[in-house]
Amino acid sequence: MDNVKNTSHRRFHNFLDTLYYLLSLFRDNFVMEAIEDILQKRILILDGAMGTMLQRYKFTEEDFRGERFKDWKQPLIGNNDLLSLTQPEALAEVHRKYFEAGADIVETNTFSGTTVGMADYGMEELVYELNYESARIAKKVADEFTAKEPEKPRFVAGSIGPTNKTASMSPDVNDPGYRAISFDELRIAYKEQVEALLDGGSDILLVETIFDTLNAKAALFAIEEVKEERDIQVPVMVSGTITDASGRTLSGQTAEAFLISISHLPILTVGFNCALGANQLVPHLEVLSAKTAFGVSAHPNAGLPNAFGEYDETPEQMAGQIREYLEKNLVNIVGGCCGTTPEHIRAIAEIAKEFKPRKLAVTV
Ligand SMILES: [Zn+2]
Repeated sequence: MDNVKNTSHRRFHNFLDTLYYLLSLFRDNFVMEAIEDILQKRILILDGAMGTMLQRYKFTEEDFRGERFKDWKQPLIGNNDLLSLTQPEALAEVHRKYFEAGADIVETNTFSGTTVGMADYGMEELVYELNYESARIAKKVADEFTAKEPEKPRFVAGSIGPTNKTASMSPDVNDPGYRAISFDELRIAYKEQVEALLDGGSDILLVETIFDTLNAKAALFAIEEVKEERDIQVPVMVSGTITDASGRTLSGQTAEAFLISISHLPILTVGFNCALGANQLVPHLEVLSAKTAFGVSAHPNAGLPNAFGEYDETPEQMAGQIREYLEKNLVNIVGGCCGTTPEHIRAIAEIAKEFKPRKLAVTV
């Protein structure tokens, strides 16, 4: 009798597992197709800076700690990723403001959410939870907006930032061969972040602010591993950072070299963000746009920082510069990085409405 019960019980569970699996496949493929479809029809708007918005709350050390981490041994102020656990309402509010401003995609608050980044605070153990919660908060707000405006579905991009250790350069001038971290250590760290971002409900993965291509490759390798293990499709956005006037990334690549080094992967978009204002990105976006069959994205800073490290470019100024991208038909996804606010995103979204997206040569 027990055996019969066990068997039927198990069958029921197998049935549920299968159903769940099929539903998740449907959901993943649905998101992939939905985004590819929309990209053909209009320019998608990415949100603006999270850090700039969080600064407005003037959170203190106590606010960063909340009740849960009040006795933590290290200072926690500045650990923005931690706010997903200690100030979730503020995060939801920022996401809400960006969606209200016209963003189609918001990024999770997980820019430093790897064991490598969290080691600064002794919070390696919290990495899964930080990423999971951050994605869950963003997804909940996205779903609210999609329910209200089904004709403009909102998406969550799991933000995967660089780490403070690079795999292709030595931090020691006296020992150029030294590396503070290996490719494999990075791959493992990124894999944990990717799994948690997906479990929390991210629709897209955005590997961004890439200044060391080898680090980004570790992240992209980890993403491919997770996709294969889970047998899922995930749209991936890859966004590099040009850090000097000669138009190279910190690891020394031009826009074209950067493109070539990631082009073997099935990605949704390739683009640039941070470091420069919208104007300075134009020639690099022209290179990408001319040479790739992928979508092209850009989320520049609100100009270059002033002497106080602040960004002064107004929404109108920035949107005026983004107009050049649109007139030249350079981008498929556009948004903002450091110093941008919902007002900047609103101005960009308004202008983007007037233009058709850059033609995609092939669908990915
Ligand atoms: Zn930035």
